[in-house]
This record gives sequence, C-alpha cells and structure tokens, in this order.
Amino acid sequence: MAETPSTRMTLWGLLQNILPFVRPYRWLVAATLVFTLIGSLMAQVNAVVLDRAVDAINALMQQPGGVVWKAAVRILATISIVLLSKEVIGAIVTFCQRYLGERLRILVSRDLSLKVVERVLSLRMSFFAEADNETGRLQSRIDRGIMSLSNTVNNFFIEILPLFTSAILALVLMFAANVYVGLVALCIIPIYFWVTNIQAQRMKGGRRNIFGGHQAVSQGILSILESMAVIKSFNRQKIEADRQADLQLSMTDLQLATRRQSYFFNGLKSFLEQIGTVLIIILTAYLVLTDYPGMSIGKIMYHVMLFSNVSAPIRQLHRIYDDMNDALIYAEGFFGILHADKDVEATGTYRPKQVHGDFCLNHVDFTYPGGTHALHDISMNIPAGKITALVGLSGAGKSTVINLLDKFYQPQGGSISLDGHDLNEWDTECLRENIGLVLQKNHIFEGSIEDNIRYGQPNATHEDVVRAARQAFIYDQIMQLPNGFKTSATQLSGGQQQRIAIARMFIKNPPIIFLDEPTASLDAIATEQIKASIDAIKAGRTVVIISHNIGQIIDADYIYVLQNGHLVQSGTPETVYREGGLYKDIFDASARSMNVDKIANAMHV
Ligand code: ADP
Repeated sequence: MAETPSTRMTLWGLLQNILPFVRPYRWLVAATLVFTLIGSLMAQVNAVVLDRAVDAINALMQQPGGVVWKAAVRILATISIVLLSKEVIGAIVTFCQRYLGERLRILVSRDLSLKVVERVLSLRMSFFAEADNETGRLQSRIDRGIMSLSNTVNNFFIEILPLFTSAILALVLMFAANVYVGLVALCIIPIYFWVTNIQAQRMKGGRRNIFGGHQAVSQGILSILESMAVIKSFNRQKIEADRQADLQLSMTDLQLATRRQSYFFNGLKSFLEQIGTVLIIILTAYLVLTDYPGMSIGKIMYHVMLFSNVSAPIRQLHRIYDDMNDALIYAEGFFGILHADKDVEATGTYRPKQVHGDFCLNHVDFTYPGGTHALHDISMNIPAGKITALVGLSGAGKSTVINLLDKFYQPQGGSISLDGHDLNEWDTECLRENIGLVLQKNHIFEGSIEDNIRYGQPNATHEDVVRAARQAFIYDQIMQLPNGFKTSATQLSGGQQQRIAIARMFIKNPPIIFLDEPTASLDAIATEQIKASIDAIKAGRTVVIISHNIGQIIDADYIYVLQNGHLVQSGTPETVYREGGLYKDIFDASARSMNVDKIANAMHV
C-alpha cells in the first residue's frame, strides 16, 4: 500500500504501520502486559481494603461491650501489612513495567530512525526537489514522526493499557458489588467518550495546522542558518527576524486557540466526572439506608474508589486522544516517506564488464518536479573517449543534462542510452561507479582530509590517497598543515576543498567524467594547475565539461550550445564559432571581459 503524505492516516492504518516495528520485541511486549495485569489488580487493592476496614471497624464500634482493642489492633495490623505489601509489590511492578515500556520505546525509536535513514538514502533526487520535501520540512517530519510514534508505543503499553485494564477490572468489581451501581458507572462512560470525541474533532484541524507551522518554522530557521553571511552582508537581520516573527505569531494564535478549547472541554469532563461520583454516593447511600442485601457503610467508599479507577483512564482520554491525533498526523508525514515506493531510485540489471562511455540522448524532454521545463527535445551524441563541452548562459539546462546522464532524474520524454543500452536498463550502482562527477561546489564531509579523498574508494591505501592528492595539486598544501592528511577537511578553503573533490575523482579513476564548472571557485594559479591535472586525466576517457572558461571549452572535441533548454548549435568549437550566433557571442564577450588585447600588450612589454 503506497501512501503519500497527503493520505489521511486512520488509527487502524497507524497500528498496521507500526506493528512491524513492534513485532521483533513481542517478548518485551508480553512481559510488559503481564506486569500491566498485575499492576491493574494492585490498583483495586485500596478500594477492597478500605471497604473491609470500614465495615470491620464499624462492626467493632457496634459491639455492646465497647471496642475490643485486641481485635482493633489486629484489624489495623492487617490493613498496614496489606497496604505496605501492596506498595512494595506495586513499586516493583511499576518499575518493571515502566522500564520495559521505555526500553520498547527506545528500541522502536532506534529502528524507526534506521529505517527512515535507509529509505531517505534510497530515494531518487526528484523526491527532494518537491516543495513539500525541502530539507527543513523533511527533517521536521522525520524528527517529530519518530518522537511521536515511539511515544505512541510507549503510551500504549505504559499508560493506555494499564489504565484501561484497571478500569475494566474496577467496573467488573462494581457490577459484582451491585448491578445498579455498575450501571450508573457504565452510563457515564459513553457520555465521556462523546464529549471527548467532539473535543478531538474540534481540535484536529488546529493541531494539523500547528504541525504544518512547526515544519515552516523549522525550514525558516534552517534557511537563516544557511544564509547567515548573505543576511549579514545585506543587513537583512531585522527583515528575516520579522519574517520568523510573523510565522511564530500565527503559530501562537493557533496554539492559544487550541489550548482554550482544550481547557474548556477538560472542565466539562471534570464536571461530568463529579456528577458521576455524586450519583454513585447517592445511590449507594440510598441502598445502605434501605438495608439492601450486601450493602454496608464501607461500600460507599468502595464504590467511590472503584468509580475513580473507572474514570481515571477516561480523565486521561483527551490526552490519549491528543497524543493519538498527533501520532496520526505525524505518522502521515513519516510513513509517507517510508512508503514513498514510487520515489525509490529505480535500477536495472545491466552490469557490463567494461564501459566505453558512448552516450546518446534521443529527443529528451525534462521538467523538474517544481514545474520548470528545463530541457526541450534534446538530441545529442556524446562519443566515448572524447571531450564534449556544454555551453550556454546560466539556467540554459547544462547541469540538467548531467543530472540526467547520472540518472539523478529521469526524462519524461525521449530516451538516453549509454553504450547502446537505455539508462533504465543499467544497474544504477554500476553506472555511477563508472562516472566521476566534479561539481562547482563539492560537499566536504566531517572527517579528515584522507577520509574525504578516500570517500568514493574506501579500500584505497594511504599511498593511493597521496598519489591522488599530488595529481590534484593539493599535496604540498596538505603537508604544510599541522596534522597533514589527518587535518579536518572542513578547515580547508573553498579552492582547496575543490581540489579534494578532484583528488576523489583521481582515486576513483572512472572511464567517464562529468565536470560541472570545476574551476569556477579557484584562483588563477589553481585553475591552471587543475586544468593541467584534468588534461592528464582526460586522456582516453569520455569527458563532459560545463565551463564558462573559454580556455577549457576550446579544448573540447565537440560542443553543444544550449539556450533556454533548447539545443541551438553543435559542432567542433571552430565550426560553431564560425557559424556565429550564441556561442560566438559568449566567446567574444568572454574574451572582452578578460581584456585580452591589453593582456597581450602587457605580456609583450
Ligand atoms: P545551467 O546548468 O545551464 O546553469 P540548470 O540545468 O542548472 O542550468 O537549470 C536549468 C533550469 O532548471 C533553470 O531554470 C533552473 O532554475 C531549473 N532547475 C535546476 N535545478 C532545479 C531543481 N533541482 N528543481 C527545480 N528546477 C531546477
């Protein structure tokens, strides 16, 4: 059953979804249930003791010769022993029950997180490009989902189950003591349920909106943290703070309205409970006064205490309802991720021994999940062992072509093949093993420089790492750091991090290389060095390069010029330049911006 986040989760659906996570711990559940049952029996002891004690003391006082102290002491000693033993056993039972319940919660929470991380890693890129799945929103859905679902498991075994078992036992004892008293208690329950249900219905929308609000706040804070330098440089602190304030204020109103409703209904239910208690007292007193068989003065306390055991879970009902409603809302988002089967990255089975690197795009049409129609009817050949450059202004669709070749996204129209096999037939892991991707900004992971270089090839030796660092012209700089290769990679500058990414590719040594503006963030010396090392690695491989650097484009064997998602020119750099058009415009503008004439003059001085 594939559920999307928009599917409304039912209680039954929630239980079905959560059961697989509880099943491995069935013995823990069984042990918790045994303690629950013992605990529920213990909960009735006070009522029984009080009933017997009042009647026994009453009988003593009625004796003609006055109170017999020996008998009184015996009664008091029995009461003390029973109540103390009950407390000791109760404490042990509560400890075991809470500990086991908590253990269950922690284990289920751990399994839920493991499962969701595994699932998130298996999803295709288009899932993350959807507006509902922005990082902050996704993080909030995952965090709150795990918290709420594991709490549900805990609530169920530690709170709901003991309370309801105790309520049912108390009700049985009330019926056993007197049918009428039992009936009064039984009649109050549906009224409680009815009121609680109205309360839950009224508050559901509010709670759902609060959940949405939490996600928006979370996303807002994340985007502030991510853009701190830009915010400060444009002095936008106040505007950003005001934007957050608007979000928070609307949340506050919603939260207060929800609380108001909640307090109103809680008051109403307390009132109903008191009415129930009064009715029980009046009825029992009437039965005692009319000498109803089996009725004694002790029964008044007995019934009131039993009724309190019956009403205790009902008093908690709204909280349980709230928790359940939260769990239902959070479960929608959480299991929406776990059940996003249609978003799991597809893979084929084709795993050739050797990859040549002949790509062929045939009438490819692609639109991002957000609705941007990025590529229109693109057909191109990217031959093996050659350098192909993608040229065009920003937003033309160059990176999108690479995204499709790497199978990050799938085209809605047309087809893409590699070495004559459709990309869908390719085993995705095998495909990516054979592709080296260097982006304009590459992610550096927490950890040492060595670990970062080794990222794509965990088995590489230290010598391999050193060789790759030399090829990427970063070795000398690494050796100057106090801890050399053991230094944390996040301390490196942008340009250095870029060369770590290039070293990663050297170590991976793939037959196909995609370079998406690899030198955009480097200084001139580094760019020249990187160009030299990229030239070295290019030999005999399929290279697709996107660059604004004319020096890198004219080295290409073939170029494709893109404009607003359309292919407008193609051919060797010289022929396309001679054709005129967009490529010539870009080329000339680039030369002018570099002030080539003056540079040439300066070099000849
Ligand atoms: P280029 O690499 O030529 O600068 P891109 O391929 O990155 O251009 O982008 C092409 C179009 O697709 C642009 O309009 C861009 O806004 C859009 N786009 C790029 N990435 C995404 C994404 N992840 N989600 C939605 N739209 C995107």
